[in-house]
Formats: sequence, structure tokens, C-alpha cells
Amino acid sequence: NEGLGSWPARRARKTPRRAALVHDGRTLTYAELDERSTRLAHGLRSLGVRRGDRVAYLGANHPSFLETLFAAGTLGAVFVPLNTRLAAPEIAYQLADSGTSVLVYGPSHASLVEEVRGAAHVRAHIALEGAEAGGGAHDYEALLAGAAADRVDEAVGPDDLCMIMYTSGTTGRAKGAMLTHGNLTWNAVNVLIDHDLTADEVALVSAPLFHTAGLNMLTLPVLLKGGRCVLVPRFDPGATFDLIEEHRVTFMFGVPAMFQAVARSPRWDGADLSSLRILTCGGAPVPPTLIAAYGERGLTFLQGYGMTEAAPGVLFLDAEHAESKAGSAGVQHFFSDVRVVAAGEPGLRPAAPGETGEVVVRGPHVFRGYWGLPEESAAAFTDGWFRSGDAARVDEDGYAYIVDRIKDMIISGGENIYPAEVEHAVLAHPDVLECAVIGVPDDKWGEVGRAVVVARDGSGLTAEDVLAALAGRLAPYKIPKSVVFTGALPRNGAGKLLKQPLRADFGSP
Ligand code: AMP
Ligand code: MG
Repeated sequence: NEGLGSWPARRARKTPRRAALVHDGRTLTYAELDERSTRLAHGLRSLGVRRGDRVAYLGANHPSFLETLFAAGTLGAVFVPLNTRLAAPEIAYQLADSGTSVLVYGPSHASLVEEVRGAAHVRAHIALEGAEAGGGAHDYEALLAGAAADRVDEAVGPDDLCMIMYTSGTTGRAKGAMLTHGNLTWNAVNVLIDHDLTADEVALVSAPLFHTAGLNMLTLPVLLKGGRCVLVPRFDPGATFDLIEEHRVTFMFGVPAMFQAVARSPRWDGADLSSLRILTCGGAPVPPTLIAAYGERGLTFLQGYGMTEAAPGVLFLDAEHAESKAGSAGVQHFFSDVRVVAAGEPGLRPAAPGETGEVVVRGPHVFRGYWGLPEESAAAFTDGWFRSGDAARVDEDGYAYIVDRIKDMIISGGENIYPAEVEHAVLAHPDVLECAVIGVPDDKWGEVGRAVVVARDGSGLTAEDVLAALAGRLAPYKIPKSVVFTGALPRNGAGKLLKQPLRADFGSP
């Protein structure tokens, strides 16, 4: 087994007694992580999980997330992390679309799991707490306790599928990005090399593990190297300071909104941040004021740019250039090839220096396409290069600056929102004739969504009506923060919506 599933065993050979995971005041060593992941693999096998089967996880950051990932990997099964912020219909869709047969879930999601039970066709449910026996329901700890602990013998290689990570889709449905064991390993190697990680790293994992950044930029590289990960179930800016001091945290990765909340906490002044060595921010545009705020505390702010489909690291601005190239997302990771090409053209004509073009990326970390969507997968690549949908320009030293998004996407607090999905949900209201969703700048979240609505004449439709109809259908972060009404949406001769004039008219905060 050369896949991720072998990592705990390989680590346990070298550093069995070192701490791997810290959670809720308890520590799990590499030997313990190995034993528990192995037992879980046997447990999953006893529930019928075989090579290629999908095993999903729904819950807050917890050691069982990683145990499930490693156990599935050991069997050659595919791990499907689910976003805990999604509404029931969205979870049901992802479970059904991925064809998940076994779902592991945490206590705060028990009622949601109950709600989607009929729609999702999951064969077995494993509860971290409070499982009711029978009917395909299992208790996580009981499953481990009753399982064998001998090595599982299953051949898993770098080209085997390891994970399906859902990302929002342009068509209004989430798409499952297929990541292989090789993709995730190469990304972890890139992060190790470019961040200069050591075995003494203590990572604070406050970003959710179900997103590519928390898992693949922070947790997996640190576990590969033999460092320690402190798992935080729920990000709390104030509590972050206690965790940094208590665990002598060296490494943090987060989206700008997270680092912003930390810097704005009343505890910022006077806190002991002396243990921090590596702070990497990414997932959304990084405001220069944020870089400056950390700079004033003597903290170097690194920048990462990437996407779920690239597992995710693409560009990285290292400590040596953090100041001289502030605002840049840096240069490509070690095992990655990046180009900026003329946007809107079918080929790969390189953009001239200083000219804005589209970022394209190729490398062993780039995904294998979208699950069950061969046409969209093919369309995502040009001659083997993945088209990011992000606009950038490159300076004379080859440093890239992300300047815009070509794709129609809003990023709110690090969560991606595709307008098409929200528009679809708003249009389900019988009194809505037309709807367009745009992003407006927001001081706390970076951007928030705004719905521009054309209502049926005389319907008396209010913003509250529109928002009330979305509750429970869409994840709360996708629900627009404001609704404005207009008589008609700007469209071209072919009836295509013109977002530029729409933004000009309705896009100010
Ligand atoms: P996700 O797949 O959720 O990781 O989202 C990927 C998208 O987030 C990218 O395509 C970019 O639009 C955006 N993004 C990620 N990192 C950065 C960054 N450092 N600066 C600007 N935008 C970013
Ligand atoms: Mg994101």
C-alpha cells in the first residue's frame, strides 16, 4: 500500500510515541492513530466496504475524521468529506451523487442524518455518539473495539482514487472533484518543501477539515512529517489565543476572514504569539491591511493560492519574498507548473508580462476530473492544463498577482458561492420572475451575496419573503445578505444576463 492509508503505519514505525492529534485535551500518538485507523478499516470491511466504495464523513473537526480517511484509504475505498454547513437537501444530493454506502457522522448532525435517510440511500450509518442499534446503525467506538487490529493487505497505488471533495458548481449543482492518493501526496510534499516544515511543527487546525485548505495545506503535510495537529471543532477568535499559548502553536493556515477575526479580537494586544513560525493565508484575496497588521507584530504572513481541484496548492509566496512581493500569491509550488494565458481564447497563448490572463496549472497534484461528469471534466482542461477561472498578471520576476475571477463565483469567509445555485433557489419562489445574484464587498466576510430580483407585478413580494423561502434549502452562508428589487435585469440581444452593468448599479455595500 503506497496510498494515504499507509501513512499512520509508516509513521508508527518511525515515531510511534510522538503526538499526532490533540483534541479536547486528549492526545493520540502515531501508534494509536495507526491502531485505530487499522481497526476501523476492518470495521468498515465488516460492513461490506470494498475497493472503490464511498465512505462519507459529516462532522466537526475530530480525530475520527482522519481515522476514517486513513481507514478508507487502507481498503482502497474513497473518502467523501461533507461540508457541515450545508442544508439537508444539499447533503442528500452529495450522498446520492457520490453513491456513498457508509456514512460516519458526529453528534451535532444526528437529526440532519435522520432527515436525509430516505433520500440518500446510505447502507450503513456509524455514529460517533448515541447510535441506536439495528437497522444499519452502528456505534463508532463499538465498531473499533470489536474489530481486528492486524494489517490489512490491499494494494493501493498513487493513481487510485482517494477522495471526492465537493466544490460548488457553475451549473447550480455541487461537483465532486476526484483526487487520487498521488494528487494528495504530491500536494503534501509541495507544502512540506515550500513551508520548510519540521517534525516539531504544532499546527492549529481551526479551519474545517472538510475543506481542502484545513486538510491538505495544514493537517496532512504535518502528519506526513511527524508533527502534531491540534484539532479545533469550532473556530473561536478569542479561544485561538489560549490554544496558541497552551500548545505553543507554530503553524496556522486560514482564510483571510479567520486571520482578520483573530487580529480584531480584544485579546490581540498583549497576547503571547512568540511560538508562531508559519502563518499562511489563502483561499480568497488577502487584503494588504491584514498583511500589515501581522507585520506590526513581527509576524510574517505567507500567501497561498490554490483550489480544490489542485489538491489545492498552486502558487505560494514564501517568507523570503513576503515583504518585497507583498500582495503577490508568489510562484508555483515545487512540483507544479503554472502559466498565465490569454483569457477567453481557446488555446494557451501566454499573456505578455504585465497583461492580465487566466491561471492554468498542470502537475502531479492536479485532479482527475469531476465525479460522473465526463463533459465538464474535459472542458476544465486545455491540453492537460487545468483552467482555474482566475485572472492574474505576472511581474518581471515571474511573481503572480491574482487580480480577479473570470468564473462567476463569490467567496464569503472562504466559502465559495456560485450565483447560479442561489439564483436557481430564489427562482423557485412563485412570485419571482427573474433573479441575479452578485457579490458585494464586505468588511468581515470579504464578499457577501446580494439577490437582485424582478417580482411579479402586484405580488407585494418583500425581501423577507424571498429570504424565508431559502431557509433550509441552502446552506446559511449561501443565502444572500440583502435583496433588492428592480423592474428588469440588464441583458444583451441574445437574452444573456450582463453582470457588469448589474454590479455597477447594485454592487456597492
Ligand atoms: P476552493 O476550491 O474552495 O479552494 O476555491 C478556490 C478559489 O478560491 C480559487 O479559484 C480562487 O478564486 C480563490 N482563491 C484561493 N486562494 C486565493 C488567493 N490567495 N487569492 C485570491 N483568490 C484565491
Ligand atoms: Mg474556498
